[in-house]
Amino acid sequence: MRCIGVIMLKLLNKYAQKLVVHGLCAQDSPLVGGVNDVVLWNRKDPRSAELERIITGLNINSMIFARPVEPFASILDYHCRNSESEFVPEDTETRTFLHSIPVARTLTATEIIPLLQKRTGCVIEGQGIICSGTVSPEQAFVVFSSIIFSAFVKFFVDFAYALHSGTADEEAKNMLPELLAAYDQFLPTSPATALETGPFSMPDEILQAMITAGQATVDARMVDSFFGNISYFANEHVYISQTGSSMDELASCIDACPLDNSASTGITASSELVAHRDIYLAGDQRAILHGHPKFSVIMSMLCFEHNCENRGKCHIRCNKQRFVDDIPIIPGEVGTGPRGLSHTLPPAVQGRRGAIVYGHGVFTVGKHDFCTPFANLAKIEKSCREAYLKLITESASLPRF
Ligand SMILES: [Zn+2]
Ligand SMILES: [Zn+2]
Repeated sequence: MRCIGVIMLKLLNKYAQKLVVHGLCAQDSPLVGGVNDVVLWNRKDPRSAELERIITGLNINSMIFARPVEPFASILDYHCRNSESEFVPEDTETRTFLHSIPVARTLTATEIIPLLQKRTGCVIEGQGIICSGTVSPEQAFVVFSSIIFSAFVKFFVDFAYALHSGTADEEAKNMLPELLAAYDQFLPTSPATALETGPFSMPDEILQAMITAGQATVDARMVDSFFGNISYFANEHVYISQTGSSMDELASCIDACPLDNSASTGITASSELVAHRDIYLAGDQRAILHGHPKFSVIMSMLCFEHNCENRGKCHIRCNKQRFVDDIPIIPGEVGTGPRGLSHTLPPAVQGRRGAIVYGHGVFTVGKHDFCTPFANLAKIEKSCREAYLKLITESASLPRF
């Protein structure tokens, strides 16, 4: 039993540390708890007694409670102040996953238990985020980073539209410079680890190149570890990360899928395997990288086209093809319909650096290795951030919808 306790503590510390390494929390902030006969915590904290009441009042096995760093803490508090009981993410990735994010005013079992019976995470005004896991702290970690992602995207999307319609509140306007400065701090300044140069043909070197590029993408904060994917094409196989695998823990999570789809590995392979495969079949690309850089997602959701027929749905699709520089913004719905990713992505990246999918993220391609796709992921995000600033500077003078 003592041994299991040690394993559990290691796991709790792993996720506490992951929140810090990912830049989401300060070193002393995360409280991670797990049920192991009694509830164990990664560290002592006066709030753990109340948190234990919440854990025992729910059918869960782990919990994360932490106040994130800036700009995320202020953005969450802003949403709390401006929401009655919940706020709703609009980006496609977290919308399907989180539905809505409940807001609590106090860290008390009586207030939190009913919220966590319906949802896997909620925000407590002025205090932070609390998330639950039924099997492991990993689930709570995914929810924690997803809440931060969607709260960030929502703030900047809502602000741009509010500014344009003349309804932006003074509070949000005043917050903006500090939020952007804090976000710059969140992005690492040191260059990422050098990526291997290709082309690669040996399975070992392919896997190593994918592991390095996955880690670099997370380190560069171009994706929240769990939701991106990566692939390489060689030897008539698509080497691709598995669905739900962490981009910074890919070592045992890469499948080699034969082009004819004859092996069962396609089942665990990323749900986007078909889109990746069709890109390889259609041209001379060998590497694909997919991340969720925040301003690319924000820009994909903003449409200021006058008289756009899709008004209200422009975060999912627009009748008018939008671009950021040379990068098209395309639909990429789940499934195999005409707006499904496997139909939209392969033609969109032909002869281009990559594409942005509405409300979702960025796909970049390379002919030899991950150096070009990785560099372009960061460049596209930088362009989107610049485009956002330009947009909000000009939005008041754009014609009203
Ligand atoms: Zn994605
Ligand atoms: Zn539109």
